[in-house]
Amino acid sequence: MDHFLYRNGVLHAEDVSLAEIAAEIGTPAYVYSSATLTRHFRLFDEALGDMPHLVCYAMKAASNQAILKTLAGLGAGMDVVSGGEYARARAAGVAPDRIVFAGVGKTRAEIRAALEGGVRQFNVESEPELQAISEVAVALGTTAPVTLRVNPDVDAKTHAKIATGKSENKFGVPIARAREVYAEAARLPGIAVVGIDVHIGSQLTELAPFEGAFRKVAELTETLRADGHDITRLDLGGGLGIPYRNSNAAPPLPFDYGALIRRTVGHLGCEIEIEPGRLIAGNAGILLARVIYVKEGEGRRFLILDAAMNDLIRPAMYDAWHDIVPVTEPAPGHERSVYDIVGPVCESGDTFARAREMPEVAAGDLVAFRSAGAYGAVMASEYNTRPLVPEVLVKGDHHAVIRARPSFDDIISRDTIPHWL
Ligand SMILES: *Cc1c(COP(=O)(O)O)cnc(C)c1O
Repeated sequence: MDHFLYRNGVLHAEDVSLAEIAAEIGTPAYVYSSATLTRHFRLFDEALGDMPHLVCYAMKAASNQAILKTLAGLGAGMDVVSGGEYARARAAGVAPDRIVFAGVGKTRAEIRAALEGGVRQFNVESEPELQAISEVAVALGTTAPVTLRVNPDVDAKTHAKIATGKSENKFGVPIARAREVYAEAARLPGIAVVGIDVHIGSQLTELAPFEGAFRKVAELTETLRADGHDITRLDLGGGLGIPYRNSNAAPPLPFDYGALIRRTVGHLGCEIEIEPGRLIAGNAGILLARVIYVKEGEGRRFLILDAAMNDLIRPAMYDAWHDIVPVTEPAPGHERSVYDIVGPVCESGDTFARAREMPEVAAGDLVAFRSAGAYGAVMASEYNTRPLVPEVLVKGDHHAVIRARPSFDDIISRDTIPHWL
């Protein structure tokens, strides 16, 4: 469920008309709903119920500080994957003991910054990283709390680019080697083991792969405890999928995911962390765009929008489907048409949808890409010197620009011409 509904014939974000936002700040633009962000965070928080837990929002999904502040205000922790995300979470006011630092290639500078600023734990992905963290911690006269990310070798049954839990993926330590690496961690002077971490992929549409992974983690918990390690925290990652397409079967609900966690690891008495990103932000955002031209091609009609692959790369990158709807509500019995929906960027990859049937629209009309809140604005670029797409946050009848569209001058002045040129 989200808060983007037609009212008086116009698509709204909560109580604010998307046509008014477009008139005020132009297109393309991302628009987020605070109520949807809040609702989705609470679904996870409630799904874990009375188990001691922390929902750490995977902020790579949508990392604007206004979004982070909204979620942190509800009690969310953050899952960060870079020094930049760490700094951004801190700038948004997130307490350091609620920040989990993940990522397969943390540099010593990133490790040092997080240890100096404070961090809940590092989720460690390899032995060399364990060594590096220990050395940096010792140099700072401290110890680093860590979990080890294990790779359980389960098939997440998702798009190959976002599957992370098979042995051929670059992530984590093979679960079969976990005992060995935990033994090494226990020997290192700068390391304090606090638990186990697992994350098998994104946009999972079934619970079975999670179940397989969580059962392996439960078994490993018992083994490591028998080896003398203090396993008090289980970080179960993120990855629960969202419905991108109304016609498809709905992915599992957070409630059922919570029940699965209770069933598989609830008896271990550990504090549970989860790291949902997409399910919190995905349906909380839309991308607003305007039709520039309707072009008649050879046996096909192109809908040419002012949004492009640089603003929303998911269709080009992951073959993703986004529902694309007119901002003006189609009248009952309206005409429909079939379009190839494209942006103005100079490559054929700049295609959002092929042979898409939708209500007929005309040049100048506004459309909205639904479910664009996660991995949308954060992956945007200025390819073709198209200004970085702005972001707007709505709460009830309030709205505010939370990232302004840069001017051409802003963009161009970032380049420096060497004095010898
Ligand atoms: C990307 C990622 C997540 C979030 O995945 P979603 O599918 O957005 O829920 C969580 N944890 C880690 C380690 C990740 O890399």
